[in-house]
This record gives sequence, C-alpha cells and structure tokens, in this order.
Amino acid sequence: MIADSVYAKRYTLIGDFMALKIWLDDKLVDEAEAKISVFDHGVLYGDGVFEGIRVYGGRVFELQAHLRRLYESAKVIRLDVPMGKDELLSAVEKTVEANGVIDGYIRLVVTRGVGTLGLNPFICEDGRLFIIADNIQLYPEELYEKGLKVISATTVRNHPLAVPPQIKSMNYLNNILAKIEALDSDVPEAIMYNHEGYVAEATGDNVFIVRDGIVYTPPAEAGSLEGITQNVVIKLAKQEKLEVVEKNLTRFDLYVCDEFFLTGTAAEVIGIVEIDSRVIGDGRPGPITKLLKNKFFEYAHGKKKRDK
Ligand code: PMP
Repeated sequence: MIADSVYAKRYTLIGDFMALKIWLDDKLVDEAEAKISVFDHGVLYGDGVFEGIRVYGGRVFELQAHLRRLYESAKVIRLDVPMGKDELLSAVEKTVEANGVIDGYIRLVVTRGVGTLGLNPFICEDGRLFIIADNIQLYPEELYEKGLKVISATTVRNHPLAVPPQIKSMNYLNNILAKIEALDSDVPEAIMYNHEGYVAEATGDNVFIVRDGIVYTPPAEAGSLEGITQNVVIKLAKQEKLEVVEKNLTRFDLYVCDEFFLTGTAAEVIGIVEIDSRVIGDGRPGPITKLLKNKFFEYAHGKKKRDK
C-alpha cells in the first residue's frame, strides 16, 4: 500500500541516518525534542491550521501564497499565528536549509496551544508553531503514466456554514472518512460532493475536467480548499490559450468528460481514468492533462522534464 511505503521510507531514514531538525516555535530543535503537550487544543480538538508546501531545487514553491492562506485560515478561526509573515518565511527557509532539503515537502502547523479540557480557545496559552521539512512522494511514477481510478464518496464535504472547506484546518476527519471509502473500494482517492450534490474536491486535491477542449474546475464556493496548485494550473492553462471555466460540476459531468485530473501540492497534476467504474476517455490520461502536467513540472522545476 502507498501509505505503508511512505511510512517505511520515513523510518528507514530515521533509523539509518536522518533524524530531522524541526522548527518549534522560535528555533530549530532535534526531532526527538520536538514535542507538543497532550493538553494542546490542536491535539485535543484538531484546533489549528496548517500548510503543505513543496521544495523544488532548493526553492520553496509559492511560499507567499501558502503563507497568505495560512494567515487567512488562522484569522477565520481567530487564532493568532505566533509570528509575523516575514519571520515565518525566514523560519521556513531555515528549516529547509537545516535539513538539506532540495526536493521535498514542508509541513507548517500552528496549533491553538495548551488549554484546559474544556473547549474555550481563549484561555489557551500562545499558539504553538512547528515546521517539518522532509521527503515525500505521494504516488508512484507509474500511476502518473497510467492514471488513477477513483470513486464518488458518500461522505458529503463540510457545509460552508460548518467548518468552511476554505480553511486548511487541522481537522481533516471529513476528508479522512471519504479517504476510507476510497481505500475500502481499493482505489487511492475519492471525489467529494457538497450538500447540494455538486463536485467539491478530492480528499486532498482539487478537481479538473476537460470537455470539448474546455477546462473546467469547481469554484471554492462549491466546498473546496482554494488550491495553490489549482491556481498555478489555471494560470498555465490560460498561457497555453486554453479556455478555463470555474463552474459547478455534477457527477454526470465527471462521468461524461473527455479528461479528468487532480491537482495538489503533493500529487501535482495526476490524471483520473476511471470513476465509479465509468472509464474516462480512452482509459489513459488525455493530451491536455499531459500538457498541463508537463507545464507544471517546468514551472515548478524551472526546466523541462526528460521523457523516459
Ligand atoms: N483540497 C484539499 C482538501 C487539500 O488538503 C489540498 C492540499 N493537499 C488541496 C485541495 C490542494 O491544495 P494545494 O494545491 O494548495 O496543495
């Protein structure tokens, strides 16, 4: 299983040679010292926000956009990020450098901090902030060539008047329930729909389809996180003179589209070739998916991908 291999890799790295340096609050500490209290409301209630960010060629990808989303998520849940944007930007860069990460993944988390067993967030001590810079590959290369199969989740995406999906909060249970449905069906991803039946997003990625040469993606109001990869891919598609339309999509639209792909920080751009046993196109990632996948690679890495 994918999850097992990531887990195994991480432990091999620690066991063999690579304990990480973690940024905790205001400094870098050894991984073994990077600890959070069991009374932290992040642990007790999933009360906090986070970002997942990529490093390509030693450069932190779209850091300003990630920081903007982090501070916006924090504002909505009335959490004070315990440092300013410039300081945080420098902390991220120092963490990447300290761990010698050239191509990798950063997890930046701000928790509510230590409180009592009650819900009241305002009696918590200062928020805790930690940054992990590590390696990641979500899907094996082969799946980028062949494309993924997905299912429609029965778990409905959070209603915008509950926890708005635009907040990247530490509480991912809504998405985890959908992920469990996918794994139970032996596929790696599930598509989530909102309370009105429109496509929201995948459990950790945004959705795109192509029909008659036009690229469609649901707006954030449909119940998705506004994806940083999604925005980059929209920009790249427009540069390629493709028409991009943000509109509500139905399950029917997914079943009959010509191409289907997901975007996200970890997955980048990955084709979907089957949903609920309906084959998309000719069962392989289509030409626009491939074009945007390659353009994204070039944009992120600043160079062309060598074809195998
Ligand atoms: N939706 C959800 C629920 C996510 O967690 C993510 C990030 N993994 C995305 C969409 C994609 O957003 P981004 O491109 O900013 O990583």
